[in-house]
Amino acid sequence: MKLSKIAFQVSKNAPANADTVNHKLLVQAGYVRQLMAGVYTYTTLGLKVLRSIENIIREEMNAIGGQEILMPALQPKENWVTTGGWDKIDVLFKLKSRTDKDYALGQSHEEIVTPLAKEFINSYKDLPLALYQIQWKYRDELRSKSGILRGREFFMKDMYSFHETQEDFERFYSETKAAYLRIFKRLGLTAKVTEASGGSFTEKVSYEFMVLTDAGEDDIFYCDECDYCINQEIAKVKEGDKCPKCGSPLKLARASEVGNVFDLGQKFAKDFEVTFTNQAGEKKYPIMGCYGIGVSRSMGVIVEKYNDEKGIIWPKSIAPFQVEVVSLSGAEDYALKVYETLQKANISVLLDDRNQSAGSKFAAADLLGLPVRLVVSPRNGEKIEWKERNQSESELIDLETVLTKLK
Ligand code: ATP
Ligand code: MG
Repeated sequence: MKLSKIAFQVSKNAPANADTVNHKLLVQAGYVRQLMAGVYTYTTLGLKVLRSIENIIREEMNAIGGQEILMPALQPKENWVTTGGWDKIDVLFKLKSRTDKDYALGQSHEEIVTPLAKEFINSYKDLPLALYQIQWKYRDELRSKSGILRGREFFMKDMYSFHETQEDFERFYSETKAAYLRIFKRLGLTAKVTEASGGSFTEKVSYEFMVLTDAGEDDIFYCDECDYCINQEIAKVKEGDKCPKCGSPLKLARASEVGNVFDLGQKFAKDFEVTFTNQAGEKKYPIMGCYGIGVSRSMGVIVEKYNDEKGIIWPKSIAPFQVEVVSLSGAEDYALKVYETLQKANISVLLDDRNQSAGSKFAAADLLGLPVRLVVSPRNGEKIEWKERNQSESELIDLETVLTKLK
């Protein structure tokens, strides 16, 4: 793509209302636009990042047997009354139609997926079943802040699983936990797994995936020596206490929850009368689990972790392009040739062909944060300046070497 043709450009000025690094950098670099508090547009470049995150999640969910579906965000009141959520869930957005009918906007999809699965689940042979989607969620959050970390409309991956036995649920629960750790690793995030109390309907323990960042809203106690980690909300420990697992002193830090997994038990199956016939011919309720990942929040957390004073430093796995070619005045033709050569070699590349000074192009490249910057300048003849976003040194190499290095 050519930067001159992209509708949303990097800006010299940071947004005035930004309270976090992700908000400031994502808006300033042109990846998102804020419509109102907690509601954002993803521009062409921002959407590329979101889609890459989404695809990593999709690959890992498919690998553990998840089947992707897409459920409606507009939902009938009745389903929410059935589970008690209509009165109990304070973040539920409720709407009225002009014919006085009540609707909810999906804040989570147990109320939709459970009656949906009822159609399919008849026998133990139909289990286990894991359905997931990647979609907008709506929540009437009291305070929507920290850029895309807490939205009123935000992108989530939510999966729901149905099992014959508690053992089978436990098996899938741990496979999903392992898949989550692979996802966060591929996204460049170190996620700590904390034990927390269950959701609104269950007393069971749930697990949260936490990434340390001051922009987060959770406080967690963790141990540097082992994997012990617990949310402060339910913890009976304090900073400096001995880790219950290995005895090292516990640390307290701010973190952002990028995902979680819940044991739902039979609550929703009972609400919607979903039953299956087991091998002995008895009618049973399946055991359910639900598994969320904040897709848009993860994008924000990645920016919180990967930046410097000049801008974003995208991990390669989710960068909108792998390379930016910076075309300097007087070298336009050769820059175009370099750009086209990379495109032919199937390397995802952005060309800064805007009519701007070298200085402002360099600043833009740092702000945008693509992994590799290639400067094509009349001073260097056929040589190209190679610089990685996370390094300070650069080198002059020929096009052939550029291609080899990128492959
Ligand atoms: P939180 O404690 O941060 O409000 P939650 O417990 O309400 O999260 P879930 O309902 O389980 O979270 O949603 C699954 C995932 O969706 C969370 O782990 C988080 O990453 C993300 N998420 C939740 N609420 C928001 C929000 N308002 N904006 C962006 N992402 C969110
Ligand atoms: Mg919440």
